[in-house]
Amino acid sequence: MIFKYFKGPIDEMSHLVIEHSVCSICGKTDHCFELDYTITNIFSDDEKDGKFGCYSCLKEGRFEFWHDTEFGMLDEEGLSKVYKHNIENPPFIPIEKLVELRRTPKIITWQQELWLTHCDDFMVYKGTWEPKDFYSNSNDGDGKALFMNMTDKELNHLWDDSLPENETLLKEWYPTYYVFECSHCGKKRGNWDCD
Ligand SMILES: [Zn+2]
Ligand SMILES: [Zn+2]
Repeated sequence: MIFKYFKGPIDEMSHLVIEHSVCSICGKTDHCFELDYTITNIFSDDEKDGKFGCYSCLKEGRFEFWHDTEFGMLDEEGLSKVYKHNIENPPFIPIEKLVELRRTPKIITWQQELWLTHCDDFMVYKGTWEPKDFYSNSNDGDGKALFMNMTDKELNHLWDDSLPENETLLKEWYPTYYVFECSHCGKKRGNWDCD
């Protein structure tokens, strides 16, 4: 399965059925997603329960996923401001990009997913990182500097909060940190589930 905005591990795709299964829409056997929480005209809300839709049907838009993004909540109507983290005056986003993200699986998260944005586009989801990944991905071994560079200030207390007293190397933390990359400028950003 190839997605423009989801380049993370396949096991981080939400509602993906583990084994290949039979698509309730086209009858093909392929990677399938549970249709319960998707946007689709093919089944009514009551009928969606327990039904599956395959990768090809997703790419063709026979079902789609809603996403919460920094630009707004994205559903079949487009973007709208629902939550505080949805920005006030989002830039104009061409319909092709909205469609592309709706035809992208959701990320498995503890809280609700929040899709990050950069350069007037949705960022590409890369997967989850632990502290060691910040050290290994930083050019100079300064994992904290990379973390601070990638993380908004409301969320960047995580590093110091997780560091045991009298230690300088961070080994672990409790939340899951989700990493995104801008397909235009290469900027990396990330967020984590607050409790
Ligand atoms: Zn199908
Ligand atoms: Zn960018």
